[in-house]
Amino acid sequence: MNLELRGITKRFGALVANDHIDLSVREGEIHCLLGENGAGKSTLMNVLSGLYRAEEGEILLDGEKVTFAGPGEAMNAGIGMVHQHFMLIPVFTVAENIILGNEKTTFGGRLDLGAARQLVRDISARFGFDVDPDALVDDLPVGAQQRVEIIKALSREAKVLVFDEPTAVLTPQETDELMVIMRQLAESGTAIVFITHKLREVREVADRITVVRLGKVVGEAEPTASNTELASLMVGRSVELTVAKEPATPGDSALVVDGLTVWSPSGAVAVDNVSFEVRRGEILAIAGVQGNGQTELAEALLGLRPGSTGSITLDGKSLLDSDVRSVLDAGVGFVPEDRTQDGLVAEFTIAENLMLDRSVGDPFVGRGTLRRAILRKFAQEKVTEFDVRTQSVDEHVGRLSGGNQQKVVLARELSRDLRLLVAAQPTRGIDVGSIEFVHKRIVATRDAGTPVIVVSTELDEVAALADRIAVMYRGKIVGIVDGDATREELGLLMAGASS
Ligand code: ADP
Ligand code: MG
Repeated sequence: MNLELRGITKRFGALVANDHIDLSVREGEIHCLLGENGAGKSTLMNVLSGLYRAEEGEILLDGEKVTFAGPGEAMNAGIGMVHQHFMLIPVFTVAENIILGNEKTTFGGRLDLGAARQLVRDISARFGFDVDPDALVDDLPVGAQQRVEIIKALSREAKVLVFDEPTAVLTPQETDELMVIMRQLAESGTAIVFITHKLREVREVADRITVVRLGKVVGEAEPTASNTELASLMVGRSVELTVAKEPATPGDSALVVDGLTVWSPSGAVAVDNVSFEVRRGEILAIAGVQGNGQTELAEALLGLRPGSTGSITLDGKSLLDSDVRSVLDAGVGFVPEDRTQDGLVAEFTIAENLMLDRSVGDPFVGRGTLRRAILRKFAQEKVTEFDVRTQSVDEHVGRLSGGNQQKVVLARELSRDLRLLVAAQPTRGIDVGSIEFVHKRIVATRDAGTPVIVVSTELDEVAALADRIAVMYRGKIVGIVDGDATREELGLLMAGASS
């Protein structure tokens, strides 16, 4: 089935998330929708899947105009979605998940689980998936859960299949497998929309590429386009994709973590007896698929996980079970993975955010009052130094773009005397131009002799920054390898193979 979107416009209040978008996807092709975070890709797909109603524009299937009052109607018309956050019920089996929402009953009104099982087997056999209809979804690795989502869509006879950022949760190997699956689906006649912001994936699998920026289609590209060409289309100016970086000249060991164990609030072990060290002047990356204990590890280093056991020593001083204030005072800088939640106060100004963790005994506070003039001058210097695009330091941080918000966090953390920088997902959801800036500052911090930990699920980021890489899997560090380890090597570790 051929899909055509014509002039789709979707507004949220004053924001035009989709501005007269045209997109045509042919039967049997993989069409990549490429764009930075916030470009409007998911919104467009939500319009297509009947979740949102567009203000303007039309949807055509094989040349026929269609309208969807809701997701059910879109599904019946042959539109299938593979969501990033799977919509599966973990305590149900694969077969049970497949019939969910589409329950067929046998004569007498009982659920026809047998038919669902057979459907799973048939579709699995057709595409060479190894999926057991009776397995509990919870027991399956993420890549297999994604296959269940695909089977579910195919079981409803989807002719157009939309994958919205499907690789974010996958290991490199699972990503490769998904590419093969998408190719097979296309060859069987399915029209595929593949949404991503990762250039590598686009160039690997796309038949055609449409690039969107700020709600508009800004161009079409061929899969033969270079990374720099695609990036400049996405961003609207030329960008440097890899930061120039000299080999590290590591000094003494600064941070020593030994046998660290961290529990989650439910009592499960989140970080399991982890040991590593970071030397002055080196970047240690903590890699792994999202959810393997990296977040908890970073939080434990910051004193946000009381009750952890083992030891954390920075320059000979124990930080285990210290509160956050003492950890910051010991010279630890922190870029949290969720900047809007933990890094900034949206309703505060840029200037106020720049002094958030510096209230005691510093130049901005005298006799219990804020020295506004000194603070504004400091803030103006930082805004210039860190290239924060804003009219004024009195602007509320909540109004800045993600990239500019992240620069405010970085400006604040790097303005203290640091003995260690912990940066968690430092470029998540920010524009390519800001990524370039953040990476340069992190490398500069290392070059100034500060030990740096970068926690990242993006392998390209790990490769760009790391001098050494520790890979986490199910709470454990399964291997520590050199910064130039191959994707294959890292991928195996990320899937739990030990080195
Ligand atoms: P992408 O998927 O390309 O990252 P989205 O389609 O999610 O982008 O978002 C496009 C823009 O629309 C963003 O500025 C986002 O904040 C905004 N947006 C998305 N969904 C909503 C919503 N339900 N309400 C208000 N604004 C939204
Ligand atoms: Mg999206």
